Amino acid sequence: MISLKFFGGIQEIGGNKILLEEKNTSIFLDFGMGFREYGHYFEEYLKPRTANGFGDYLELGLIPWIDGVYRKDLLNIQGVESHEVPAVDGVLLSHMHLDHAAFVSFLDHRIPVYCSRPSGAIAQALTECGQRSLHTEIYDFKERPLLSSTCSPTGRKFNFMNPEEEYTIGDVQVKAFSVDHSIPGSFAYLIRAPGGTCPLHRGSEASWNPRRYGEAFHRRNEW
Ligand SMILES: [Zn+2]
Repeated sequence: MISLKFFGGIQEIGGNKILLEEKNTSIFLDFGMGFREYGHYFEEYLKPRTANGFGDYLELGLIPWIDGVYRKDLLNIQGVESHEVPAVDGVLLSHMHLDHAAFVSFLDHRIPVYCSRPSGAIAQALTECGQRSLHTEIYDFKERPLLSSTCSPTGRKFNFMNPEEEYTIGDVQVKAFSVDHSIPGSFAYLIRAPGGTCPLHRGSEASWNPRRYGEAFHRRNEW
C-alpha cells in the first residue's frame, strides 16, 4: 500500500515535497521551494550565504533534514558524512515552477529526475541562460565550495516521459497526462501500485483547466 509523507506544500501554495513509498520504492513528488517561508528571511538583495552551502536553508527550516538524499559536496560543508547510495529512487516533477522544482538543486545527482521533455529544457535554460545560483541548479550544478567559476558542472540524470505512456519506477507504475498550467510541459501523474492504490499527483492548483484535469482524474479508474 502506498504511503505519503509531506515535507512541504501543506497550507501553503507550492513548496511541495511529498515522499511516496511503496514496498522498496521511494519517490519524491516534486521538491520545491516554499516561497512564503523563504520570504520571511530573504528578499531581492538579501540572500542565503553562498559560502555556507545549504546550511542557511537547513537552519531556517526552508528545507527538511532527510537522510540519504542530499548532495555530497553540500553535506561535506555541513560536516556530515555522506551516504553511499541515495535513499530514494527518483523525483517526479509536475512542472518546472520553482515552488515545485527548485530544491532538486540540493538533491544527490544520482537520484533520477522524471518529467516532461519541455520541463527538462526549461531546467537546462535556467542554468545555461540565467544567473546560476544554489537553488536554480536543477539541470546540473557546480560543486561547492565554488573554487573556480569555470569548473565543469555535474549533470543530473533526466528521464523524459511522454504523455499517456506507462513507466515503471521500482514497485510503482506511472502514467503522465498533459495538463494546462502557466508553464509549458506540465504533467499530472496517475500512480499505481500492486495494492491498487492510485493517487493523482497534479502539482499546482491555480489555473488548471478543469476539463483537462477532469479527464485525467476520471481516467484513473480506467487504468
Ligand atoms: Zn506552478
